[in-house]
Amino acid sequence: MRSFTHINARTLDEAIELLRKYRGRAVLNAGGTDLLSALKGEYLSRYPETVINLKSISGLDYVSEDGGLLRIGALAKLSDIVRSPLVSSGYRVLAEAARSVASPQIRNAATIGGNLCQDIRCWYYRYPRHIGGPVQCARKGSGPCLAVRGDNRYHAIMNSRKCFAVCPSDTAVALAVLDAQVHVSGPEGDRAIAVTDFFGPLANALRSNEIVRKIEVPKVSVSAVQTFLKFTVREPIDFAVVSVASVITREEGVCTDARIALGAVAPGPVRASKAEEMLKGERIDEEMAAQAAEQALAGARPLSKNAYKIEIAKTLVKRAILR
Ligand SMILES: Cc1cc2nc3c(=O)[nH]c(=O)nc-3n(C[C@H](O)[C@H](O)[C@H](O)COP(=O)(O)OP(=O)(O)OC[C@H]3O[C@@H](n4cnc5c(N)ncnc54)[C@H](O)[C@@H]3O)c2cc1C
Ligand code: SF4
Repeated sequence: MRSFTHINARTLDEAIELLRKYRGRAVLNAGGTDLLSALKGEYLSRYPETVINLKSISGLDYVSEDGGLLRIGALAKLSDIVRSPLVSSGYRVLAEAARSVASPQIRNAATIGGNLCQDIRCWYYRYPRHIGGPVQCARKGSGPCLAVRGDNRYHAIMNSRKCFAVCPSDTAVALAVLDAQVHVSGPEGDRAIAVTDFFGPLANALRSNEIVRKIEVPKVSVSAVQTFLKFTVREPIDFAVVSVASVITREEGVCTDARIALGAVAPGPVRASKAEEMLKGERIDEEMAAQAAEQALAGARPLSKNAYKIEIAKTLVKRAILR
């Protein structure tokens, strides 16, 4: 790893001011579980001169509920979310998604802000310097997307252009189905972004010098069934090939509300809005669930080696609806 200056920020405003001062030559560090591998691998276009530590800011690691909202500070660790009685009782889909991330050691360090802002996992993008990288591609601003003609088995099957990497964050999928908002602060002040709008094909929605401050989640009906399902190649410690989160409410067997989100299929979590509409007002059975699953994947446009993801996604959607 190359050397860099390390600064412990004391406040969010100080961190924003430092980002502004270093003009693209500084990066933020929260749990460091993703950032440190980028620094070790030296695969980014620009090596940072300065690392700004966010963990030295106190009071940003809360998980609390008030006014009908769950509030999670950006520095709350994934293990705090897994262990929170508030989350596991009222927002179970988020607890399940957080529990599915990596290993206990990583969840004890990784923060929710870092989980949402972590970099993509495309193997061309992450090709490390010590074995011949870095590799240039569309996302790095030079040349085509290498995955289109290359090995794209874990890449996107929908909503992509220029870059076909998928969003690797499991918590993002749960937060999408919970209609969560990501609250950010920057030199221009504070703003809230729907989690489904937070991810784009080439980068997330953070503007220059903005930092994720907190996540807010509206309360979920107590009668809703919340589910997170994740298909991985390896059983422990693996990223999703496809994941599905759902929140389904039934009254006397009839679906009154349905929310479904797909993960690892696109640059961000994708709400299956048409499938959700199909279910509302209907009695849910095998056939209905299968039709909704077909609808959820109707917009899929696979690359040369990843059409298999469509069948996995349909199966997970169906299972989530029927749970
Ligand atoms: C072996 C392994 C397995 C994994 N498996 C999974 C998995 O199954 N599912 C999954 O979702 N993830 C998985 N991950 C990724 C892991 O969840 C992320 O590394 C972690 O969540 C990042 O959080 P962090 O706090 O450590 O972020 P950091 O590494 O500190 O930061 C990550 C990025 O986010 C930026 N950042 C951090 N906080 C903020 C903020 N508040 N505002 C703006 N930018 C910020 C940083 O600048 C950096 O670019 C895995 C990682 C490893 C190493
Ligand atoms: S999917 Fe293509 S453009 Fe995106 S990071 Fe990978 S190689 Fe680069």
